[in-house]
Amino acid sequence: MADCRETLRELDRYLDDEVATEALAPVVAHLDGCTDCQQAFEFHAELKRVIRSSARGDELPDGLVQRLEACFGADDATTDGGTDGPVAG
Ligand SMILES: [Zn+2]
Repeated sequence: MADCRETLRELDRYLDDEVATEALAPVVAHLDGCTDCQQAFEFHAELKRVIRSSARGDELPDGLVQRLEACFGADDATTDGGTDGPVAG
C-alpha cells in the first residue's frame, strides 16, 4: 500500500502526463480511503489547469486566482498564534 507522500508524488507525475493510467491503481485505491490526498489531488489538478490556461494566454475564471492565493497563504495563517513547541517532522 502506497503512503501519502508516495501517492502525492505519483499524482503529480500523473498530472504532468508522466504516468500511465493503469499504473495509478494503487494510488487510486489510496485516494479512496484518504481524504487528505483527495483534497491535495484536487488542488494540484486545479493548479495545473490554471498554469496551463495561463500559459496559453486564456483568460482565467474570475476569483480562481484569489482562491489559489488564499490556499497558498493559508499555511501562514495557521501558524499565527499557535503552539510554541517543537514541530514534529
Ligand atoms: Zn494519503
